[in-house]
Amino acid sequence: MAEITLDKVVKRYGKLEVVHGIDLKIAHNEFVVLVGPSGCGKSTTLRMIAGLEDISDGAIRIGGDVVNDLPPRKRNISMVFQNYALYPHMSVRENLGFGLKIAKQDPKMIEERVAEAAETLGLDALLDRTPAELSGGQRQRVAMGRAIVRHPEAFLFDEPLSNLDAKLRVQMRTEIKKLHQKVKTTVVYVTHDQVEAMTLADRIVIMRDGNIEQVGTPMEVFDHPLNTFVASFIGSPP
Ligand code: ADP
Ligand code: MG
Repeated sequence: MAEITLDKVVKRYGKLEVVHGIDLKIAHNEFVVLVGPSGCGKSTTLRMIAGLEDISDGAIRIGGDVVNDLPPRKRNISMVFQNYALYPHMSVRENLGFGLKIAKQDPKMIEERVAEAAETLGLDALLDRTPAELSGGQRQRVAMGRAIVRHPEAFLFDEPLSNLDAKLRVQMRTEIKKLHQKVKTTVVYVTHDQVEAMTLADRIVIMRDGNIEQVGTPMEVFDHPLNTFVASFIGSPP
């Protein structure tokens, strides 16, 4: 069960503290969105969960186990970035299977996982194309497919849609939501876009200057903002 817990998690870069001891409990299968202005510590928090940044103090647990010292590949979570780097010289099929291939998984199993991810994301007809022959939205789906094939217990997204145009962004939001309903994993999703956060989240976490200001369902936060920062950030009526 991929419950994720942050217990007084601190991040310092040298003398500069950028995350000030945050507590957060994310339930299995929950879709949680971290939202807040640029520089408030969203990506740093996500990267600490992923194991891409060391934590300076506190503890992170995934499925009950403290993972502070585990490298990313042992945490059984997949991260989808804003700049989805696909391998340009490989087909979609090869892009999807590549991570499993370098992990020396059985070719038969790779084939099955790739077929399953392609079906989930509607990529069946595109498997033999190269990234240059895909639209932005299709590339984004391949990037998600590369995460799915690993059957991770949790997905971490860092502003995955911010490079897409407005129309596609709205469309991809729906796809990500559908994907979550289909594959049933825990999702931690970072965005600076309030509307995106409100549409996607089971619960939203509002951050400011390395602290968590409020956690709640979109409705709770909108209707009962704890302070004026949250109210104005979310756009609650005064
Ligand atoms: P967000 O994703 O919310 O925009 P970040 O987590 O990227 O914010 O950054 C939080 C703060 O940490 C910012 O003030 C940023 O400048 C600082 N920061 C991020 N990465 C580093 C780093 N490698 N070295 C020093 N400071 C950093
Ligand atoms: Mg960021």
